[in-house]
Amino acid sequence: MDINRQQRRLFISLVSLLTFAFIGTISLSYFVARNAIRKNIIEKELPLTGDSIYSEIQRDLIKPVFVSDQMAHNTFLLDWIAKGEQDPDAIVRYLSEIQQRYNALTSFYVSDRTRRYFTGKTITKTISETDEDDRWFFRVRAMKEPYEINVEADAQNNNRLTAFINFRVVDSAGRFLGATGVGLASDSIFKLVEEYKHKFNRDITFFDLAGNSTVYDPNSNSPTVRLSERPGIKVLTSEILNGSPIPVNLSYKSATDDSLVHVNSRFVPELKWYLVVSQDEKEAVSPLNHILLVNLGIGSLATLGALVLAIWLVSRHQQRLVRVAVTDKLTGVANRSSADTKFSQVREEAKASGETFSVLVIDCDRFKQVNDEYGHLVGDLVIAEIARSIRQNIRSSDYLARWGGEEFLVLLPNANCAGAMRRAEALRVAVENHVFTASDVSLKKTVSIGVAEWDRTESNEALFDRADRALLESKQSGRNRVTAATTAAEYV
Ligand code: GH3
Ligand code: MG
Ligand code: MG
Repeated sequence: MDINRQQRRLFISLVSLLTFAFIGTISLSYFVARNAIRKNIIEKELPLTGDSIYSEIQRDLIKPVFVSDQMAHNTFLLDWIAKGEQDPDAIVRYLSEIQQRYNALTSFYVSDRTRRYFTGKTITKTISETDEDDRWFFRVRAMKEPYEINVEADAQNNNRLTAFINFRVVDSAGRFLGATGVGLASDSIFKLVEEYKHKFNRDITFFDLAGNSTVYDPNSNSPTVRLSERPGIKVLTSEILNGSPIPVNLSYKSATDDSLVHVNSRFVPELKWYLVVSQDEKEAVSPLNHILLVNLGIGSLATLGALVLAIWLVSRHQQRLVRVAVTDKLTGVANRSSADTKFSQVREEAKASGETFSVLVIDCDRFKQVNDEYGHLVGDLVIAEIARSIRQNIRSSDYLARWGGEEFLVLLPNANCAGAMRRAEALRVAVENHVFTASDVSLKKTVSIGVAEWDRTESNEALFDRADRALLESKQSGRNRVTAATTAAEYV
């Protein structure tokens, strides 16, 4: 596996790990927080709101039920009925007193025998089974329960929307005598519920046993939407209308978006109404969404930052490794192993372009002396300076490598033997004239050079060998000189 593939795998693993860790922790904390909010809504907020409204309802609405209950069992009323409903003014006075005393919108008694409708003001009319407005009486008449709460326009009172508490009046044998009770202004009940909504910041609805909405805006044109027809919550119809006084916690998916709406529903036996308190968790959860986005942003930036840092560190480290692998430590020029690669590369380029190239093999003359006289440390410094000196006297397109000891190889692309000889000679002269200073020592050194031009067919080794032989010749003929190799054809 090459380095780049390894690197890619490292980066992919790093990004996956960081992304996984970030998304993992962020979503875990989000879900934990959301569940805590949800649990709080379901287990604390909604039941508490339900309890509070229930007690307020008891205070505000149950009183008229008790008043109506008292009216249905009032001895005066029962006696008056028993005596044949003789004195209408007496009953009107009685009803008027009740109405004033309890600040009701109306109070009434409707006789089953005479079908007359008495209120606190007057005997208004005689009811009839065929009249739409009087249907309620015949419903109450047939009813098994002792009373009902009925919200309806009051025909006796400018059609004002009224919540009637309709109590059955029965004699000691249980025979139905009539209906009595009080009526409250429905808009005031509506206002009351609106106040609750505002106070508790929840949606509050009331349904009767059949699932009809009982408290609604009196000014609305389409006030009652049955529970079973309401978007979203309708799926809970049977669970809400369960007849049990024990509060239930339920949830449904909002019809407008996907958020969860939590419901606390309870039956209020005194009113025979279901009190349904609900809350969309969206509002409570929305600050979390904001935090989630911020966290994701931070997470992405941190991942990106970590990735950039890792890429930078790895590539720097890799560059250093490559440099160390191809560089000679003492002189800072290319080492022998990288010279082999470069040698082949230059040869391939020459082959492709149809050009030639030449090599110089350079060896310092009598170098042992330096070591012997000044020690190895000085010897090292001199070798480094020879490399520098060669470097300064070749072109940037030429290639210099330390071949070993105090011996160097120079590759001269696009140079034939004659050109290479000229440049080798200039190099030799430059070294000859150079004063080497190492520590407190100044000395002069010379080099011998062998030159060979590639013959377009021979191997690296063969070419090098010819140049090396030329170097040997330079040494043998007195050193500090440049010798051209014999051509490959002559070479044996
Ligand atoms: P010649 O003119 O025949 O080349 O004589 P020479 O003394 O240079 O002989 P040769 O090239 O055979 O020996 C090179 C010497 O250079 C041998 C070794 O002690 C020394 N040498 C090789 N590498 C290093 C090095 O890295 N540091 C030092 N200080 N000396 C080295
Ligand atoms: Mg030498
Ligand atoms: Mg040598």
